Amino acid sequence: MKHRHHAHFATAAIHTGYHPQDQQGALTPPIHISSTYAFETVEQGAEAFQGDNDRFIYARLGSPTQQILEQRLARLEQAEAALATASGMGAITATLWSLVKPGDEIIADLSLYGCTYSFLEHGLKSFGVKITYLNLSDPNNLTQHISDQTRLVYSESPTNPNMRLVDIAALAAITGPLDCQLMIDNTYCTPYLQNPLALGADLVVHSATKYLGGHGDLLAGFVAGRQEVIDHIRMFGLKDMTGAVISGFDVSLLLRGLKTLHVRMERHGENAQQVAEYLAASPHVKRTYYPGLADFPQRQLAALQMRQAGGMIAFELNATREQAAAFVNRLQMILCAVSLGDAETLIQHPASMTHSTYTEEALLAHLISPTLIRLSVGLEHVDDIIADLDQALESVFSGASGDSNNGLAILA
Ligand SMILES: *Cc1c(COP(=O)(O)O)cnc(C)c1O
Repeated sequence: MKHRHHAHFATAAIHTGYHPQDQQGALTPPIHISSTYAFETVEQGAEAFQGDNDRFIYARLGSPTQQILEQRLARLEQAEAALATASGMGAITATLWSLVKPGDEIIADLSLYGCTYSFLEHGLKSFGVKITYLNLSDPNNLTQHISDQTRLVYSESPTNPNMRLVDIAALAAITGPLDCQLMIDNTYCTPYLQNPLALGADLVVHSATKYLGGHGDLLAGFVAGRQEVIDHIRMFGLKDMTGAVISGFDVSLLLRGLKTLHVRMERHGENAQQVAEYLAASPHVKRTYYPGLADFPQRQLAALQMRQAGGMIAFELNATREQAAAFVNRLQMILCAVSLGDAETLIQHPASMTHSTYTEEALLAHLISPTLIRLSVGLEHVDDIIADLDQALESVFSGASGDSNNGLAILA
């Protein structure tokens, strides 16, 4: 047999799981919209139900288009298997419904995506699952609290919205010997910047709505890990508990987004580095949280587990909550919107928006400052991004009354 060269990320993101000759030469895989799949005989149907994985049964369990996507995602996350879902929350809920039962404990980091927090706090908790929040940036906190009851440890890295990292390998060293899974939300990094499974995590979950899709035109998610666990999540959490099935049309859009992921992540990162340096040097900015800054507190860890610092920045102004809102309102090109990872630079105020599921006290307890601003640095020319931030800061801090959101004047 000929020696097989192990393709690079960019090549895998474009080719894995599909060859045009399998579909009459079609460069782009066809979208399968069939809801059900016909068998030649009852016996063949029976085999499919016994787990003959080469056959499709019903679209809630997958389709040929979705299978291409899942093979590609698994390859990019260095996983045995992946399961694509209708949204990031679809992947998170299908996974957690599959893996915990009443009486089990989940230990989660203090800072989480708002709806993940809400699902744990208001969803799973009311079904008898114990939820404990710890600052997992210090692995000793996990060592002290983990017990026989702990079935799963959950974290993002960097955390949303405040950009703390957790040492994934250190957490995996603690959960590894126990009957306890380590699950990492890798949305901020994408598999291009960080591979939690390669660092020892058991499961990695993504909102593919963000960088993976990359164009703000779809909702999707996926979970990746060992084949046996992913099969269980598909056959239980997805099939029976959530039904959060991805549409074939969104599978196709996501396959398209993946082809340029590596190119886009490079530019997101270059732009974000310059924007972070601009913010850090501004007298109006109190703190800038970005793993690529020399004074980032976890700079060494960032260099160890992330290939680059990524496109997300958080910062606090030397300002009141009202002034922080006024600053966002005076931006002209940059859009005030939740979501992230799009070509457009997006800004939002977590305490008012994504993290409004937290009470005022919970925000502080979970280390989310009420004046924190979250910035998803887009793919526009970096000089235009900085010019917009600059005029809004000048406008707020010089006390001038600026017109809010007056279109694309900055581009004139
Ligand atoms: C957006 C997001 C989610 C949820 O994903 P959806 O696709 O919106 O359901 C989960 N985690 C993180 C970190 C996110 O940014």
